Amino acid sequence: MSDFVKDGLARNFLAGEWVEGDAGNRIAVEDPGNQEHVADCAQAGEKSLAAALESARTSFERGDLADMQPSERGRLMIRIAQEIRNIADEGAVLLCRESGKTLEAARDEFIEAAQYFEYYGGVADKIEGKSIPLGPDYADYTVFEPFGVSAQIVPWNFPVSIAGRSLAPSMAAGNSTIIKSPELDPIGLAMLGLALERADVPTGAVSILNGIGSDLGARLVASPEVDQIVFTGSVPTGQNILKSAADNVVPALMELGGKSAAVVFDDADLDTLIASLQSGIFYNAGQVCSAMARVLVHRSIYEQAVERAAGLANGLSVGHGLKNPDHTPVISARQLAQVEAITSTARQDGARVAAGGVRLERDGYFMAPTILADVDPSSRVAQEEIFGPVTCFSPFDTEAEAIGMANGTEFGLVAGIFTRDLARAHRVARKLRAGQVFVNEWFAGGISTPFGGVGKSGFGREKGLEALYNYVRTKNIAISLKG
Ligand code: NAD
Repeated sequence: MSDFVKDGLARNFLAGEWVEGDAGNRIAVEDPGNQEHVADCAQAGEKSLAAALESARTSFERGDLADMQPSERGRLMIRIAQEIRNIADEGAVLLCRESGKTLEAARDEFIEAAQYFEYYGGVADKIEGKSIPLGPDYADYTVFEPFGVSAQIVPWNFPVSIAGRSLAPSMAAGNSTIIKSPELDPIGLAMLGLALERADVPTGAVSILNGIGSDLGARLVASPEVDQIVFTGSVPTGQNILKSAADNVVPALMELGGKSAAVVFDDADLDTLIASLQSGIFYNAGQVCSAMARVLVHRSIYEQAVERAAGLANGLSVGHGLKNPDHTPVISARQLAQVEAITSTARQDGARVAAGGVRLERDGYFMAPTILADVDPSSRVAQEEIFGPVTCFSPFDTEAEAIGMANGTEFGLVAGIFTRDLARAHRVARKLRAGQVFVNEWFAGGISTPFGGVGKSGFGREKGLEALYNYVRTKNIAISLKG
């Protein structure tokens, strides 16, 4: 731990060393649960970035990961997973304090990151190409090659698990990786460097830099030394990053925002819905890209569903994440102001506040768990991502109308269906414009199930075997056997 934090400063993991970085400034990290100062984080500048890019390239050219026996690469990843598990308790306290999430959720992030390394470590020696029949005069086959240097930009809502989600397949494929941590809560992610160091990751194969998105992040993705970009974050930032990707003509994986809808039919089990609603919109204070941001309910059970949802929201325990309450703060004063502002536009647009609707008057950045009812599907609050503990209920009459409403935003990350009729569930799932559809349980699935967006929610897939193919390119080798 001594090298990771020095003189109260959390540092950058650069080419196997813990360094202060050259940006000159420090990032002051605040606890959103009580507005206390958690720690300062060293900020990497231009020189650190150049050093990270150079060491990543050198490691790649040396074949540190790419030419390692695939099974050995898999074992390295399993060692990383174990080291992540070893730091989970300590890391969880830091992550809980800097992000505001519960201690339990913070620990789950480390465990999930470890699981990504276990999963992709297990497939490192199974990234198999094809043999293509061209007749007796040719031998033809494909191989998957890593891109080279992968630049990965991580958001603040799940910094540790999302870093694991992208780093693990990138390493399994043999790329070098440079991660830019989110400036609001960089410390838990920076700590992953400890696990990498203890597992003996080759020097330069992975660096984790702390810095401001519009500065360090923008420079990283614009560098011609980068061969592939992985971005998880908001649509406007993704659009900016895509411009850099276009300039350098490099592939980019975009995991962006959402405004996902649950479609609740008249035969749905309301207990199941309410349990899903709790995790769907109140987990991590709703700061989840795949949150249950809209709930479309058949008119025959609509009022009952709204009443149950309001009861849930009003009954949640609220507190600092270290106490593992049901409901925690949003990440910052700015986020709270944004969530409150868009919620108040809902009232002007005719929505009924069934629960919450305002910030909670206490230390920290707490928005009351909020249920908005009678939301006009075309209104701003039903169209824009809020990224807070606020969901929008609207009634529907027919299946076709529900599908139209669910598909009626520019996003398409996930969707949900609540019904006892499996034929209907299959039929509607096919019609929903989303990368993943949950039936009767929001967030069903796991690290092995492909995840990603449609429309402005992005493109490319993370998680599962599917994700691996975003981290490799195909080479075809065609051999003439004539003569
Ligand atoms: P954001 O776009 O503001 O920031 C994300 C990251 O990008 C941060 O690390 C930030 O420092 C960096 N960044 C900012 N400007 C940059 C630039 N010009 N160039 C390079 N990097 C830059 O998003 P956020 O507020 O941190 O995260 C919330 C958003 O992320 C929401 O829209 C949410 O839906 C989305 N998200 C999506 C997924 C997914 O898997 N689809 C997962 C989590 C979050």
